[in-house]
Amino acid sequence: MNNETAHNDKTHINDGECIVQTEELNADYFFQDLLQSCAVVCKSDEDEKLIKSAFYFAYDAHKGVKRKSGEPYIVHPIAVAKIVVNEIGLGVKSVAAALLHDVVEDTDYTVEDIKHHFGDKIAYMVDGLTKLSGVVSKGSSEQAENFKKMLLTLSDDVRVIIIKLADRLHNMRTLEHMPQHKQMKIAGETIYLFAPLAHRLGLYNIKTELEDLSLKYRFPEEYYEIGQKLAATEASRQEFIEKFNAPIIKKLNDNHIYFDVFGRMKSIYSIWKKMKRKQISFEEIFDLFAIRIVFYPATTVPEKSQCWNIYSLITDLYRPKPDRIRDWVNIPKANGYEALHCTVMGQGGTWAEVQIRSKRMDDVAERGFAAHWRYKQQDNDELTPRHEQELDTWLGQLREALNNPEEDAVEFLDNFHLNLQVSEIVVFTPKGDPRTMPKGATILDFAYDIHSKVGNNAIGAKVNRKLTTLFTVLHAGDQIEILTSAAAQPKYEWLSHVITAKAKGHIKTLLRKEKANVIKLGVKIFEDQMKNLKIKITNRVFQKLLPAYECISKEQFYAKLGAGSIDVNEIEKNLKQSLAFKLVKQWTLQIATLGLVGKQTKPNDRQNEKALGEFAVAECCNPIPGDTIIGFKDSKGHVVVHKKNCNYAIKLSAQNGKQIVDAKWSSEKIMSYLAVIKLRGIDRTGLMLDVTKIITEQLGVNIRTVSFHSYDGIFDGEISLYVQNNENLKHLIQLVGHVKGVEKINRAESITPLN
Ligand code: MN
Repeated sequence: MNNETAHNDKTHINDGECIVQTEELNADYFFQDLLQSCAVVCKSDEDEKLIKSAFYFAYDAHKGVKRKSGEPYIVHPIAVAKIVVNEIGLGVKSVAAALLHDVVEDTDYTVEDIKHHFGDKIAYMVDGLTKLSGVVSKGSSEQAENFKKMLLTLSDDVRVIIIKLADRLHNMRTLEHMPQHKQMKIAGETIYLFAPLAHRLGLYNIKTELEDLSLKYRFPEEYYEIGQKLAATEASRQEFIEKFNAPIIKKLNDNHIYFDVFGRMKSIYSIWKKMKRKQISFEEIFDLFAIRIVFYPATTVPEKSQCWNIYSLITDLYRPKPDRIRDWVNIPKANGYEALHCTVMGQGGTWAEVQIRSKRMDDVAERGFAAHWRYKQQDNDELTPRHEQELDTWLGQLREALNNPEEDAVEFLDNFHLNLQVSEIVVFTPKGDPRTMPKGATILDFAYDIHSKVGNNAIGAKVNRKLTTLFTVLHAGDQIEILTSAAAQPKYEWLSHVITAKAKGHIKTLLRKEKANVIKLGVKIFEDQMKNLKIKITNRVFQKLLPAYECISKEQFYAKLGAGSIDVNEIEKNLKQSLAFKLVKQWTLQIATLGLVGKQTKPNDRQNEKALGEFAVAECCNPIPGDTIIGFKDSKGHVVVHKKNCNYAIKLSAQNGKQIVDAKWSSEKIMSYLAVIKLRGIDRTGLMLDVTKIITEQLGVNIRTVSFHSYDGIFDGEISLYVQNNENLKHLIQLVGHVKGVEKINRAESITPLN
């Protein structure tokens, strides 16, 4: 249909049809606006035609449907298309796919229809962007299956995943309109998978925004507090930056270098993460910002030399910190990032990080490898083949990891998550070929990276010519020779000494064959032992044992037992010690009943809150009243509550988001919860007595265990105790903190924040 004539025809009409007219005026307005955004990539009439037909196709398909915000649905695909072109720099085909990305999932059109109108390529992309519909095999996670499907498409066309990231970014930007439990699911997935994925693809800006937005919904208070503190310190920071930059600007100008200089703030999320990881306050973070110098390279000198020349000019002015040089110019990160980073001492003894990049490096850093393509088009020689190769290698590894049809989707997701998390180091083969490995990888990972056969037959290695075991962790710059024997075979324990999906996949494939036998053995060992201990095997027993051995299923537990990686004699101890899923009966917890989320949701469904008499607290994070919590409903309808920042809970939100229920503490009754505090200070006689006295006598709190270690006049203590609530604990920490000799005291987080 020709929309321009359509609305012209309806200039003078009655009221009833006026609505139609408004909508079509909107359509033209939206289209013109989109076209303007696409001006950079729209090079021919053909291009414009494609965008136009994709736009009107999507517009008609979504007609009459509104988003949660009340806007017409088409606003969303348009926004995604704009992100794809403006913030990532992809071309017209991707714009078309972005416009159509929800058509198959949300309307009656099929992938065949898209193929008919737009051809194979675009239909293929749209298919990859469409969630699996209907039945997911029992016991699996729908979210995990969907993610796996999307990644399978990725291995053929990376643009699918980029559009998916743009889709996610826009959904995160408009998350405020969603009900809270859905916000948690989406924010959880975002931090667990999408942000690391964006990072892996080198899309730094998108990664950062996804992380910040996720934090905003997961921990709104902490998010706003950091934001406020940043704003409050802005003026003095600006002043420092100006003073710091002035001599650099002069010096570089004197040397005829063309450049821009920026002060770059650390993101709220990375500040938050650092505070959590190092247990420090906002005020203790010294590297809140970095100075970035982006230079326009002279054509006659290699970029690398120019980077080092600028480094040399800056360190003429400011003293460098010797151990803080990061050279990603010689060896770029695996996601293509190139830059030279150094830390120098500025005015007043303040350390400041300086990042030196060429314009090309900056583009690559800001927009990921999409920028590589642009440079490739402009100038064939500009792009060093190495980066292309890195990305290809990564995609190849991914493809290989994905080519394991037996792997269950949840497991796959975990492995994939792991693979995204870590940063890379470079090591060398005996011939000196560099290979990028994730940080924390072992010799065994390296062996599998070379070839599955090398991995399967590995018996040891020579690292820098010294003999070492297969489980040794790699260090940057290691030169590794793997020793093999045809008789060698993977063992079950290998699985806990590798971190790459490739190694895990190969080991598992071989082990799976033996697995059935191992499980049988495990069942027998377990039953015998429980008979010995005179304990009945109930579900409660597994609720305690599975988390204690980091197992997610009975099968896994039996397998570990059968393979000897669980010590059967420790089971009794773990059963006694473990407080896993302790049922707390006197507490009331407000749980929002789950309305059907999706298209049929009635707006008020979730307002019904009911107080549950029974729920369980998760042992992994031991939440106590006052902590911000999140609940998960298990198959029997019981709710298990976790601390919101519990890693396991974040993982659950990413995999089983539908089971999330809003939960909050509702009233206080006398009931105790286990908490652990850590303290450190200067040792003196009687210190431990003073501390425990305050806790038990003054505060009347029950101590469960105490341990103190003293060395060189310093002590480290850990006390686990029962408290009634968070306030209680804070008060206790304050009092104990005043004991003479105690320098540092905090509640032990059994978890560390996700990277
Ligand atoms: Mn969408």
